[in-house]
Amino acid sequence: MSYPYQIRTFEDYQKAYQKSVENPEEFWAEIAAHFTWHKKWDRVLEWDFKGPGAPIVKWFINGKLNITENCLDRHLPFRGQQPAIIWEPNDPEEHYRVLTYQQLYDKVCQFAQVLKNNGVKKGDRVCIYMGMIPELPIAMLACARIGAIHSVVFGGFSAQSIADRINDAQCSVVITCDGAFRGNKDVPLKSIVDDALVQCPTVKRVIVYTRTRTPVSMIKGRDVWWEDELKIVETQGNPKCPAEVMDAEDPLYILYTSGSTGKPKGVLHTTAGYMIYTNYTFVNVFNYQPGEIYFCTADIGWVTGHSYILYGPLSAGATTLMFEGIPTWPDAGRFWDIVGKHRVNILYTAPTAIRSLMAHGLDFVKNKKLDTLRVLGSVGEPINEEAWQWFYEHIGKKRCPIVDTWWQTETGGIMISPIATVTPMRPSYATLPLPGVQPAVMDEKGQEIPTTEATGNLCIKFPWPGMFRTTWGDHERCRKTYFDPYPGYYFTGDGCIREKDGYYRITGRVDDVLNVSGHRIGTAEIENAINMHSDVVESAVVGFPHPIKGQGIYAFVICTHLDDPELTRKDILETVSRVIGPIAKPDKIQFVKNLPKTRSGKIMRRILRKIAEGEMENFGDTTSLLDPSVVEEIKQGRLAMS
Ligand code: ATP
Ligand code: MG
Repeated sequence: MSYPYQIRTFEDYQKAYQKSVENPEEFWAEIAAHFTWHKKWDRVLEWDFKGPGAPIVKWFINGKLNITENCLDRHLPFRGQQPAIIWEPNDPEEHYRVLTYQQLYDKVCQFAQVLKNNGVKKGDRVCIYMGMIPELPIAMLACARIGAIHSVVFGGFSAQSIADRINDAQCSVVITCDGAFRGNKDVPLKSIVDDALVQCPTVKRVIVYTRTRTPVSMIKGRDVWWEDELKIVETQGNPKCPAEVMDAEDPLYILYTSGSTGKPKGVLHTTAGYMIYTNYTFVNVFNYQPGEIYFCTADIGWVTGHSYILYGPLSAGATTLMFEGIPTWPDAGRFWDIVGKHRVNILYTAPTAIRSLMAHGLDFVKNKKLDTLRVLGSVGEPINEEAWQWFYEHIGKKRCPIVDTWWQTETGGIMISPIATVTPMRPSYATLPLPGVQPAVMDEKGQEIPTTEATGNLCIKFPWPGMFRTTWGDHERCRKTYFDPYPGYYFTGDGCIREKDGYYRITGRVDDVLNVSGHRIGTAEIENAINMHSDVVESAVVGFPHPIKGQGIYAFVICTHLDDPELTRKDILETVSRVIGPIAKPDKIQFVKNLPKTRSGKIMRRILRKIAEGEMENFGDTTSLLDPSVVEEIKQGRLAMS
């Protein structure tokens, strides 16, 4: 498979972009023509961001297809024997697994039959709570095969978080494992599911795959083993499970946002537009070439895993590598060992991982075989300049372009990003919008800023195929959250700076932009400056009410070592002063051991804001925190300061 729509030069990009704005329907229809359809669409697009019932977004109206035929069946004649998924286990001593497209196809059909045997029908919601093993994508694709809507819950969430998500989506089936290996831990997934299900009356069936051989309690009439169910399918003669013919706008999945700014939202993605958008962005942003090994380190429990471990790569016939474990086990060289072992060409990871590996030092990078790497990518939060440089120099050896990809669960795919080998890079800039993406920067009065040079809130003013359609069960919340703030626009919640040449720099969440004595400063910018100090590992900056400045700057800082806190404090102030200016100097610096992070590695700033304000309670929904004890530690530190 070659990709006729792959962008190869900057001129190609400019042409594609221009066409996507001038004639979006023709632009996307030409790309859609390269996929497998049961019936072609009647019209390409219908949309309304503003009227009653908004948002209304429909792509490829009345088109009929199944996404798994595009991810599997259509590749069989040409690349049935090519690896679709390479799976690297948690324990490097355990043998890795390779599933060819043919094998993956067979397994998906088999498990789709298992779902049917267990009463799952088109439109039913299926919760998937598993570790990073090949059976997780198999379960997802099996759902899509028969038209069931999957709702994957990251295998690190607590029973309460699972219950909330199951109840919100009214799932009838849960697919899980006995347990999951993560570093030196065994996470007892089934037992956590059991705790959750006490509160979930809609769940009629639990299908359990054996991974860790952790003892589990199987409830008669409700719980069945994956392996036993497969045997039943074998006795049925392994019928080929035909793909359910889906409408272009039929739901594909629900996925809850990571919850760093509030209660997680059940983001709904549909079939055709999502497929085409993830495919298009995968092929272009990473400049994927047939046969290359592509490794995305995200967990499939996050949108990055959905779009760029699974649907984007498989729809493009790529080889996608998935990793069960964590970056620091058995040691902080694990990612680089995997790159060497599997001859990885493209590596897509997150700033939080890069920073944590940076802090372990270069010994773990030394002597690793990184010569196959060709393209590097980053996602999840702004990548600070220090981390960017480290990644560029020590991992990419100054040969590999880095694509800093800005996007969200809601956008379904990458929105603003360099195109590898095409777009000139600039550290800490997501650079330019991809074809089909029409950003708008809004001023304080809610108006779109007409000049290219602009600072404000980032909106998108035209639909793109991969965008979400609603928040599950609550269209009103969707409208209020994303479309009411700026009528006629999708509001991202992020702030940005657009330079004279059109380059975008994402400055973080809008509520993370501070107004210090009338100057608007993004917290990310201040963090960037703090992180440049050689002893600093990571920092988080929030505002607090200040009698004179309006807002003061409060910095939580993690250092590698802290011999003389007073001196380090002064050094940090000096650094910030030099990098941004005295205006950005933090009023308070609190040294901490850890920051409160979500399970996807993002800092929950709303908690830090409360603590900075001196408020020690009412932190809101904190169920997505990785380690709640961190909050207690920081509270104590705060109390000791004042
Ligand atoms: P919630 O919406 O529940 O608060 P969340 O926004 O953290 O959760 P995601 O959809 O996983 O959930 O994250 C999207 C956000 O991540 C973006 O809005 C942006 O703030 C940040 N982000 C992602 N990639 C980048 C990037 N390359 N540069 C800057 N920010 C990024
Ligand atoms: Mg968000």
